[in-house]
Amino acid sequence: MLDKRKFFINGQWVNPAKPNDFKVINPANEKPIAVISMGAEADINNAVSVAKKIFLSYSQTSTEERLVLLERLLEIYKRRYVEMVDIITLELGAPTTMSAEAQADTGIGHLQGFIDGLRQLTTREKLSNGDVLCREPIGVCGLITPWNWPINQIALKVLPALATGCTCVLKPSEQTPLCAMLYAEMIEEAGFPAGCFNLVNGDGINVGSVLSAHKDVDMISFTGSTAAGITISKSAANTVKRVTLELGGKSPYIIFDDADLEASITNCIQSCFYNSGQSCDAPTRMLVQQSVYDEALRIAQSVASQVVVGNPQDEGDHLGPLVSGIQFDRVQMMIEKGINEGATLLTGGKGRPTGFEVGYFTKPTLFADVTSTMSVFREEIFGPVLTISVFDDEAQAIEMANDTDFGLAAYVDSNDVMRAERVAARIRAGMVHINGGPHRYGSPFGGYKHSGIGREGGVLGLEDFLEIKTLHYPD
Ligand code: NAD
Repeated sequence: MLDKRKFFINGQWVNPAKPNDFKVINPANEKPIAVISMGAEADINNAVSVAKKIFLSYSQTSTEERLVLLERLLEIYKRRYVEMVDIITLELGAPTTMSAEAQADTGIGHLQGFIDGLRQLTTREKLSNGDVLCREPIGVCGLITPWNWPINQIALKVLPALATGCTCVLKPSEQTPLCAMLYAEMIEEAGFPAGCFNLVNGDGINVGSVLSAHKDVDMISFTGSTAAGITISKSAANTVKRVTLELGGKSPYIIFDDADLEASITNCIQSCFYNSGQSCDAPTRMLVQQSVYDEALRIAQSVASQVVVGNPQDEGDHLGPLVSGIQFDRVQMMIEKGINEGATLLTGGKGRPTGFEVGYFTKPTLFADVTSTMSVFREEIFGPVLTISVFDDEAQAIEMANDTDFGLAAYVDSNDVMRAERVAARIRAGMVHINGGPHRYGSPFGGYKHSGIGREGGVLGLEDFLEIKTLHYPD
């Protein structure tokens, strides 16, 4: 078992203020792979005071100096790429092919996106009235990340903080801390000044909450559940800090009767089940037009029956386990609710797939005839569970798509691009994918409504970490 009990503070690997061991579990076999420390208030206080002190000098570095550091980090990340792939597979359970092609790749894609964004960013501009507008780093940033796309979310927060001249304290998810610790090693190797990046492990209640309430933290950037996002916003309010949130989703995938049915349904199912359904922007509600509904169910059943669950260490496009026992139990409970509330179980259901006795493996599950009052239509499940519902016309499709507290992503498929754009304009969500268009690095990621506040990635992702100062001169 790996001994990973130290934190990274002020450029050094240090012991926690008080020992408090926590085992990191491999979700594929339920065995411990490493021991980390759960921090306490004293660890956060230490890290924040270091970050506050170094902010005085790091915030004065030039864009060019920071670009050199980021370019160096990119080289190191590429060199140590396989280590990142292996660690994500081990602690998250993402199959190795997916870890390599998608999970770990986000560390390169976002870094390149921020390097390009930083080159485009205007930090000083003259307004038409003669005043001068300056964009400056906001200060000490508290970064709290989840486990589902661990390095993606770390990169989307740590990089814009460091790129803009902010300093930061990262508290990664206690479920997937090892990739964060590897990332800390890379930042150290890249030569960022000691103390501008700090890492403290721990849970939300004892460590994350101290960070969000801390008077010397100027901004909190959080990704995770809406419930935790609300708690964090409330505790951050007392010290009037900026809060950006990337929260949950229940994204609709609208399929009109003129779409390529086979392609649309395949894309929806594969996107929903990708990462074992543990993605905030996954299309989890398929909405199909009445005239093609029966055919859609036949295709969906056939596509889902070909989805394979397998060991994360094996190469291939199979699904791995869920991240933890807690997540497994939550998903089982939601599948049971779907059955009890009268949804038609097309494939999957409760229990592990055949051949799996251990590990948090879950059956890919399709529910049909789902109505808007059912829990499976309304609540974020975060497992490989897709609901299928029927709509009559464009107006009803829009109404059903928007019938959710969330507003992260939406997907619209139609052969009539004018119609797809008309529908996209009426959907209250931060990202709309038309006819399978993918999200690209450098584009803003984030949502409306209960899905969050702010945008991550590229130039807009940098702007979230900047304050605005206006200089007034005499006429
Ligand atoms: P969570 O929101 O509880 O945890 C995410 C991160 O926030 C972790 O680092 C955690 O330690 C921290 N945290 C939790 N409570 C906190 C608090 N009060 N103050 C400060 N930090 C806090 O997520 P989870 O328990 O791992 O998963 C629960 C559900 O959240 C999932 O079932 C899923 O629906 C959702 N989720 C969404 C996303 C997303 O990307 N939108 C990611 C992970 C989980």
